[in-house]
Amino acid sequence: MAPSCTDGVNSLPGNCVFCEIVEGRRKAAILYEDPEVLAFRDILPQAPTHILIVPKEHVPSAVAVSDPDLWSKLMDVARKLALELGCEDKGYRLVVNSGPQAGQTIPHLHVHLLAGRSFRWPPG
Ligand code: 5GP
Ligand code: ZN
Repeated sequence: MAPSCTDGVNSLPGNCVFCEIVEGRRKAAILYEDPEVLAFRDILPQAPTHILIVPKEHVPSAVAVSDPDLWSKLMDVARKLALELGCEDKGYRLVVNSGPQAGQTIPHLHVHLLAGRSFRWPPG
C-alpha cells in the first residue's frame, strides 16, 4: 500500500506519554485543567513560553478529531492562557503538527502555544 500522510500517528492510549500526564502517572507542570482539556509546559521548550494543550481523551492526531467542538475547546484554552500569561500584545504562535512529515512525535493530539520570542515564516 502506498504511504499515506497519516502513517505513524495511530497509537493506543495505554502507552501514551500524554495519557500518562492526564492520568497523573507522569509529572508535568500543569497550567490549566477542566473536565476535557489539560495544558502543561513542554519538557523541552522551544521558546520562553511553550505550553502544550491536549484533550484528556486520547485522540491520536488532528486527522482523528471527529468532534469539531474539540477544536473550539483547545483554541479557547490557548487564547485564555495567552491572555493570562500576557502574550497578547507581542503575539504568540499556535502549532499543530499532524503526522511524521509535520514532525509529530507524540501521537496524542496537542496544540503548541509558543511565545516570548520572534518566529520565522515559513516554518522550517
Ligand atoms: P510534537 O513533536 O509531537 O508536535 O510535540 C511533542 C512535544 O511534546 C515536544 O515539544 C516535546 O518536547 C514534548 N514532550 C515529549 N515528552 C514530554 C513529556 O514527557 N512531558 C512534557 N511536558 N512534554 C513532553
Ligand atoms: Zn494519549
